Amino acid sequence: HYLCVEQWRCRSNHPTARNGLNCETCEGVYTLPPPPSRPVGQTHDDWEAMPPHVLAALRRPHITWQVVAAIVRRRWLRPLAPVIISPIVALYCRARRLLKKRGVSRRRWACSLCRRRARWKCVRCLRSYYCSRQCQNVSWHIVHKHVCYKPARFWWSVVVYGVTTIACFPGIFKDPFIYDLGVLSLLASFTITGIIGGGVAQCLKKFNGVDIRGRALEAIVVLSTLLLAWITWGLVWAFFGESNQCLGVNFLFSSRSDINQKPHVGIHLTTLHSLFFRPAKVLISMLDKMLFKTGPHITKIICSNNTEITENDACLRMARNANPDFFLSDTDGPKCTADLNLVTAVWFTASAVLVSGQLFKRRERERRAAGRHRPHQD
Ligand SMILES: [Zn+2]
Ligand SMILES: [Zn+2]
Ligand SMILES: [Zn+2]
Repeated sequence: HYLCVEQWRCRSNHPTARNGLNCETCEGVYTLPPPPSRPVGQTHDDWEAMPPHVLAALRRPHITWQVVAAIVRRRWLRPLAPVIISPIVALYCRARRLLKKRGVSRRRWACSLCRRRARWKCVRCLRSYYCSRQCQNVSWHIVHKHVCYKPARFWWSVVVYGVTTIACFPGIFKDPFIYDLGVLSLLASFTITGIIGGGVAQCLKKFNGVDIRGRALEAIVVLSTLLLAWITWGLVWAFFGESNQCLGVNFLFSSRSDINQKPHVGIHLTTLHSLFFRPAKVLISMLDKMLFKTGPHITKIICSNNTEITENDACLRMARNANPDFFLSDTDGPKCTADLNLVTAVWFTASAVLVSGQLFKRRERERRAAGRHRPHQD
């Protein structure tokens, strides 16, 4: 008694089926009506078959979809589009997964076409999410086939982004180590702010029942990451001799007190000074001495070519300029001290949140284990 839902008639050739309008077993007429005849001029059969949410999404697409579609619509941009877009998408996915783990983001992904809740993703790139087959189909033919990640294009992305980075930061060849430290400080700041944001969100959810996870919290976390990384990078520059790079963030917090007033150098800073800055300086000097012993040819290439090299002089410019006492100086010392105070406070808060979160989790686990073992003992 099967009936084709699409054609409203049976495809059987059996004589009792009577051209498909009767059931071939019981010879009864199917109760379903025949399809309405189509208007003469209309040929958009596929569009007729689209579910309403796809049609609505196509009439008013989401802004990211519009942007990517506009890029892909230019024929000459098509080979370039995946090269440019796929690293951004990969970075975004990775950052969001990390924030999800920390409890900053919500668990859900939106369909990249219609923004409903997504349950599937493209198995080729694993980075494009869809609510349904129709959405994926439409998205594939209009946009996604042009930007779906192709492994062969990875090195083109590396080339394009490498050239852009060198063009934007010309100092990267002069002080590569400092720029590495800048990237490291960006990653560390992201981890730190993620921990703090997740801790705040979990606390609010646990004790107040308010769920603040989502886009707004993500934006706050990202912005504070950038701010923290900026301050940290200024401190890195200050450590390597350019203490005018310190931002001096104390004006944000103490508007009443005079900016020129010298902030208090607390015990945490003296500890940091003797446990971290001085050993770092010693370590850099040791590495520098090792570079001297490699031989005259390599030394000539690597070392900054100052006049003649004396015994006390250092090979690398950064080793010569490294100054563990940068926040104690008179000119830019107060600004650097304020920055250091802020950064250490943030790091301390993050570690406190991490430790308390671990303790809380352990206590929960113990309570659950105790609850499980109570019955069924005999
Ligand atoms: Zn049939
Ligand atoms: Zn969808
Ligand atoms: Zn894909």
